[in-house]
Amino acid sequence: MSIIELKNIQRSYVNGSQSLHVLKDINLQIASGEMVAIIGPSGSGKSTLLNILGCLDAADSGDYFIDGKNTASLSPDALAKVRREHIGFIFQRYHLMPDLTALSNVEIPAIYANQPGHLRRERAAQLLERLGLQGREHHKPGELSGGQQQRVSIARALMNGAEIILADEPTGALDSHSGEEVLRILHDLNREGHTVIIVTHDMKVAQHAERIIEIQDGEIFADSGRQQNAVRARYIPAPRKSQSKLRGFVDRLRESMSMALNAMNTHRLRTALTMTGIIFGIAAVVTVVALGQGAREKTLESISGLGTNVVSVYAGGDFAEDDAHPVLTLVMADADVIARQQFVDKVSPELLSTQPIRYLSNASKASVSGVGKDYFEIQGIKLTEGSNFSDERHAQQEIIIDTNTRNKLFAPHENPIGKMIVLGSVPVRVIGVAHEDNGISPNRLSVWLPWSTMMYRISGQTALTSISIKLKDDVVSGPAVESLTQLLTARHGTKDFLMFNRDKYRKAIEGAAATLTLLILMVASIALMIGSIGVMNIMLVSVTERTHEIGVRMAVGARRGDIMQQFMIEAVLVCLVGGSLGVALSLVIGPLISLMAGGVLTAIYSWESAGAAFACSTIIGMIFGYLPARKAARMDPVAALASE
Ligand code: ADP
Ligand code: MG
Repeated sequence: MSIIELKNIQRSYVNGSQSLHVLKDINLQIASGEMVAIIGPSGSGKSTLLNILGCLDAADSGDYFIDGKNTASLSPDALAKVRREHIGFIFQRYHLMPDLTALSNVEIPAIYANQPGHLRRERAAQLLERLGLQGREHHKPGELSGGQQQRVSIARALMNGAEIILADEPTGALDSHSGEEVLRILHDLNREGHTVIIVTHDMKVAQHAERIIEIQDGEIFADSGRQQNAVRARYIPAPRKSQSKLRGFVDRLRESMSMALNAMNTHRLRTALTMTGIIFGIAAVVTVVALGQGAREKTLESISGLGTNVVSVYAGGDFAEDDAHPVLTLVMADADVIARQQFVDKVSPELLSTQPIRYLSNASKASVSGVGKDYFEIQGIKLTEGSNFSDERHAQQEIIIDTNTRNKLFAPHENPIGKMIVLGSVPVRVIGVAHEDNGISPNRLSVWLPWSTMMYRISGQTALTSISIKLKDDVVSGPAVESLTQLLTARHGTKDFLMFNRDKYRKAIEGAAATLTLLILMVASIALMIGSIGVMNIMLVSVTERTHEIGVRMAVGARRGDIMQQFMIEAVLVCLVGGSLGVALSLVIGPLISLMAGGVLTAIYSWESAGAAFACSTIIGMIFGYLPARKAARMDPVAALASE
């Protein structure tokens, strides 16, 4: 039975308006175990025919049966399977991968055939030894002679069994001695039962075969016919041990990974340049996020003085009441009623006045607030020394001073706690020092008295300037403000006060900060985008440059998916490494910017943003690697092989 049967095969090449009819109606049968030479002058269509026999190329019309199976209906991946499992190619110029060792070159077909790693290496080493290449396993093609390279390529052809061996001018690039050697090997293989088909223009080579087919101008001109005594046992390949689908997938993935690393290593400069875009893009994004986070924390810290969920009530219809006629509508009873509301946590009244202040011979002027003892907590003011008021209702002559006042009245090492100072004309004892982050007037001296002391001993006023209210944590400020407004309006008969919801104010500031961060982030993302397009560009160049490699891989049986995966992994790896370097760079840039900004900006890094950066680089790699990888996977094997 014929292992190969061609029926009315036609093949033309169309170049623009010109059409070249290369194969004209080829009919041919080759039996299993034959050794055939196809001979003809250069340009007669021998290689075209051999490529069709090897399922690298398809006929325009006619049928090609391998082992009785018509190849016309097979998908690209099914054809790859035929090449992988039944066919071994030997080319005139060997087509080895220059960056891989002899052993790795021989292993390639087995990787795509899903063979376990150790069996693969074992068999590759055996084949190399059998072909007289022991000791040369770890040499790269450039370190081997032509004859040796051709023997490596024969080993590669045999890796998966190769019932059919197709050799296109296998001795064309060799000296006569090496040529003889290769022909002897092909003879031996034929004796073992491999079907061997040699294409040559050299009669001396053709005479090694038992059957010679002459081809001229795309037609079979003469055929010496099948040798009757040549019937041999059909070659039966050793049973292949392939591993589970998953193991095979993981193996191929690892293989793709090392191929990608290899490619990156061979083109270090290009890889580095590609990465630059990603490095700076990711660094920009991560730095902006970190600085934005720092700015946010800073804003939050500086407005934390406003307290959370704090509402203030001011006396008067608007902020610009003149000092000569202060509005006298808020009273202590209002504060007491507000304190009884169930959504209210803490309440403090506030009475404002300005008074001369003196300690020994140091005198100045201070703004004085009469407040409740919860005032400091409501306002988020911290006591750095001493303690809070123990009682607010009995006009105790106690005072809490701020750090400015402390520095103004006392020597740096003097302990102010317990000292008597004079406020207006009233002696009061310092019981605490508070730090008020007052960004508005940094040189102002502020002091605080119990509101009762202020009312009864200092200013004599009974009307409150304002009431500060801290709502309970789980209370929503909007409705609470509404309810307080109704309460006070009912008590006063008219709305003679202003409510100030600090929570809303705070949220507005936070919102503005977030908007700014978002804006800068968008700019940084554009930088990253440009970097990504760089990756795509370089990957496209890389695919074009490695067209020949892709052709070789396809010839030995790589599926489209394998090629796709290899280039995708390379793109993702480039982006991931670029991403890591970008994060690292950002760790340097952030503090540098903080330093230059004089501490106004601090960068705060988080694992989340680093993680997001990595996720981002991977996705970029996948998106921008996809197009080049697809281009590689869809290449025509013959055209890819022809490019060099
Ligand atoms: P041989 O191997 O016998 O020297 P080929 O089969 O390589 O001949 O080529 C046969 C003819 O087809 C030649 O004239 C060649 O120029 C032409 N040919 C081969 N490949 C292509 C191609 N991809 N596009 C156009 N013409 C081609
Ligand atoms: Mg040729």
